Amino acid sequence: MYSRGARSQMFRNATFSIAISLEPQGNWAYITGDWWGAGGPTLENNLQRLRNIGISAHIDSGKTTLTERILFYTRRIHRMHEVHGEDGGATMDYMDLERERGITINSAATYCQWRGHQINIIDTPGHVDFTMEVERSLRVLDGAILVLCAVGGVQSQSLTVDRQMRRYGVARLAFINKCDREGADPQRVCRQIRQRLNLNPVLIQLPIGLGAAFEGVIDLIEMRALFFRGEAGERVEAAEIPASLQSAARAARESMLDAVSMFSEELTQAWLEGRADPPAIKQALRQAVLRRQLLPVLLGSAYRNKGIQPLLDAVVDFLPSPEEITTQAYRLDTEDGQQQAICLSGRVDDPLVAMAFKLQESRFGPIAYLRIYQGRLERETQLMNCRTGKFQRPGRLALIHADRLEEIRSAHSGQIVGVFGLETQNGDTFTDGRLRLSFSAMQVPEPVISLGVKPAQNQQAQALANALQRFAREDPSFRVSTDAESGQLLIAGMGELQLEVYLERVRREYGIEVQTSPPEVAYRETITREVEFDYTHKKQTGGAGQYGRIIGRLQPAAEVEFEFVDQVKGGAVPAQFIPAVEKGFAEAVKKGPLIGAPVVGVRVILEDGASHPVDSKEIAFRQAAYGAWRESIGKAGARLLEPIMRVEVETPPAFLGKVLGSLNQRRAMIIGQEELGQVVRVEADVPLAEMFGYATVLRSLSEGQAAFTMQFSRYLHLPEWVAEKLLENNRQREGA
Ligand code: GDP
Repeated sequence: MYSRGARSQMFRNATFSIAISLEPQGNWAYITGDWWGAGGPTLENNLQRLRNIGISAHIDSGKTTLTERILFYTRRIHRMHEVHGEDGGATMDYMDLERERGITINSAATYCQWRGHQINIIDTPGHVDFTMEVERSLRVLDGAILVLCAVGGVQSQSLTVDRQMRRYGVARLAFINKCDREGADPQRVCRQIRQRLNLNPVLIQLPIGLGAAFEGVIDLIEMRALFFRGEAGERVEAAEIPASLQSAARAARESMLDAVSMFSEELTQAWLEGRADPPAIKQALRQAVLRRQLLPVLLGSAYRNKGIQPLLDAVVDFLPSPEEITTQAYRLDTEDGQQQAICLSGRVDDPLVAMAFKLQESRFGPIAYLRIYQGRLERETQLMNCRTGKFQRPGRLALIHADRLEEIRSAHSGQIVGVFGLETQNGDTFTDGRLRLSFSAMQVPEPVISLGVKPAQNQQAQALANALQRFAREDPSFRVSTDAESGQLLIAGMGELQLEVYLERVRREYGIEVQTSPPEVAYRETITREVEFDYTHKKQTGGAGQYGRIIGRLQPAAEVEFEFVDQVKGGAVPAQFIPAVEKGFAEAVKKGPLIGAPVVGVRVILEDGASHPVDSKEIAFRQAAYGAWRESIGKAGARLLEPIMRVEVETPPAFLGKVLGSLNQRRAMIIGQEELGQVVRVEADVPLAEMFGYATVLRSLSEGQAAFTMQFSRYLHLPEWVAEKLLENNRQREGA
């Protein structure tokens, strides 16, 4: 985990020796026709040879480098680019901007072939600012490789990704990368996996040397040493386990067998009888991975081309095929109108079900990425969008490889395809009309930061709004709105970096220079006291009258954002008006009494009221709700809440004092400190409001050698003295 600056520093003296030129002046060359033939994929009856996987990692663990190596060894590309080498970047990071930042922002899909299996790789973004992207791509994965740095180990971001993976039931392998780095300690990383991720790691390899001495791995299943020879590690050589490591290897094999046999009686039996041969071990391990009981751990160094081929073997051997996954969906077309959960069969012969999990503008036009869960999709298929009920025919179908594509005529269950000319939103489900389904809604996080934007040239205002709207369509965690009072365009999202990236894209892709106001924290308000309300809305001047009376309570309820409870008895408020009361309150809570921020953690209990046979209407009860809110909220002890970020700083020990100082100045709560080889990691909870510009501060206080990441953690009460200042600023602004 090193910031850009720190990283270039670290690697400035390293040799970028891997830009192998199999092609003299290489543009990417692709092997075509080797697998698909002209007619497209051929796995229809052989789904067990398909793997849909993601590679998830904390930023800078080497995910991009690893992906690149995978594409190289599977011969999808003929030449490797170094992520941060001179030649401009890896295939997967195909946008200039990403290339510069070295972050894969858009999950690109690509596919490759290994040992007769097709592996689709959905490149999940590493940076947490883009959690939404991660969530969407996880949903369509059957398995994943969790990449961890052998020095950095499990970082807080890994925790987030882990939570998401669990939610979507993704089976996993772990790859401990960067074993060539000084301070690499795979055993420590395994302990962290157990303690911090609460997973059950089992090392199926041992390192041969570590740090500069890292040479290869011992395969504990086959009990042999593997070395990676040739210019780019493309030749895997199996050899005797070096004598000095034999007893360690035997011990490690015993503990591996011990761990795996916990989940397999067959293996236990075989082991007792001395028959625990590699096929038996693999079989047992595979079952345990599919049931999410074990996490096989492999080792290597992507950068030094070591350990990649065994990892590909493990993907094939241990991760599930689409047939081994159960996917639940909800039928929308039941007779009683109730949603009914069903399990999709995954079979090619059953009716088509597919989900759009990513939309992207490309130079070929807008693409929707569809994961097919069941059935077959032909170019001629009339697709029904289950949300709208509308039918349409896809324009073209294609397999996507970073920024290139391969047209196909049809695709089938288990596959991921790009579809052109499809009107859709993210998460839409498509069928051929025989079924009408939906997948449960994906969780969209609420933005924590916003800033005002305007074009440098006024006449570009509309173009700017359009460009931003486009990004908002692609990424639901990115919002665009217009401030009702100032008319200013606002963008909001999950972090500074995410917003910066979109603004940079506006500049590059649309040629619009943008000016921004300083970023603002998305504060919330909450209440701390229960209050009663009794409000009558009455209007009798001219025309038809309005009448509605409501009685009840506002209650602090930290566990919910907003909840409405109807306890009205005997129709005191007629049933048909209760939704109007709820709607009125739901609207009212959007603007709190302190600074106009949304109020969260409120329960409204409606207990009683009164109506009028003629003058009571929806609008009257909605107005009553506004009125009741206005009257009672002042007494409810409103407090401000602010977003708190979980921050992780890694620094050489020499700068530790300064780093701690800089955090303390920012109202940080230090959570822990850990030594990792040559760096110390500090973990802290820090209010987002204090973190603006921290990258620059950290860089200068550590001579560019410390780096940090952060992600949203939770909302907490703002301390009184900070709240006072904020309210004062707010008053001044309103007064001005
Ligand atoms: P990502 O942010 O996870 O995609 O990581 P990258 O692939 O961009 O790698 C981050 C940095 O770590 C780059 O400078 C890589 O060259 C370097 N890196 C990647 N893999 C290894 C490795 O196995 N060993 C070492 N020493 N450096 C690596």
